[in-house]
Amino acid sequence: MACIEKIYSVSALLGSSACNGNCAFCAAKELKKVAPADNMMPSTFKSALRLSARYGGWSLSLTSSGEPTCSPLAVTNALKDYQEVAREGAYFPNVNLFTNGILLGSKKFCDKYLPLWKRLGLTAVAVSIHEISEDRQAKVYGIVRYPKYSEIFSNIRRHGLQCRATVLLRKGGIDTPESYKTVIEKLKRSGCENISSWPIGNPDSTRNESTPSRLNLFKIRLWLKNNALLCHGHVWGGGVYDYKGTLVRITDYVTKHDPKKDYVRQLVVFQDGTVAYSWIREGAICFKT
Ligand code: SF4
Repeated sequence: MACIEKIYSVSALLGSSACNGNCAFCAAKELKKVAPADNMMPSTFKSALRLSARYGGWSLSLTSSGEPTCSPLAVTNALKDYQEVAREGAYFPNVNLFTNGILLGSKKFCDKYLPLWKRLGLTAVAVSIHEISEDRQAKVYGIVRYPKYSEIFSNIRRHGLQCRATVLLRKGGIDTPESYKTVIEKLKRSGCENISSWPIGNPDSTRNESTPSRLNLFKIRLWLKNNALLCHGHVWGGGVYDYKGTLVRITDYVTKHDPKKDYVRQLVVFQDGTVAYSWIREGAICFKT
């Protein structure tokens, strides 16, 4: 049995389950059931931050069972909690907000919230990308129009925040080396130079009908290996590459907790107050309220 030496990051769910998208493959149904109506974080959020920081954690990711920007007060409250523990020394150099990006196309929305969130410690906004073109991205999200990627990233950058993208590899969407290369080059032209990617799957890490074929995933990894320089690997698999000056990270959707390992990829703070060693919480409970 190994002792835990490192807890790399914290991922926390926030807000109500409200969402301005309507994706056919939305996997958040179970998580939505415990989303609170008061926009507050569970008390275990601050404990998880302190614990991860003590074990060398450097990255905090804020996400939601809906769309976090549809619960802006919840984002503000989560960042206020973070500020409190950061002042005590539990500081995270990377604080990322994960979003579908729809509201980030609005200059008015960005002017209202991004300066406040930046003051409270936010460092980057990560936009989920499912398709190369904005028209097809709109179809995936079940909306009429999706903002231009360049508009979104220019709104984020104007407020001094890092522009990040999460490319979701999906069968019939971005699922070949060719489409992967095209989307990376488009995102780079649109002002985003820090891209993470992983295949869509079930929250328990199993494959589903949207997961690209194993062969195509292998070809995408091989393409990266042959066309980019490996900057560093991840102990849980995958790594970060330099592709013509753009950071491209490829990894798995979730990592199952292995009690024999001496590291934890991320602590996950669920909205019922449970803190788990993984998104797959069965057999991975760290503590509860
Ligand atoms: S944007 Fe996210 S939460 Fe909203 S419907 Fe799509 S997958 Fe579900």
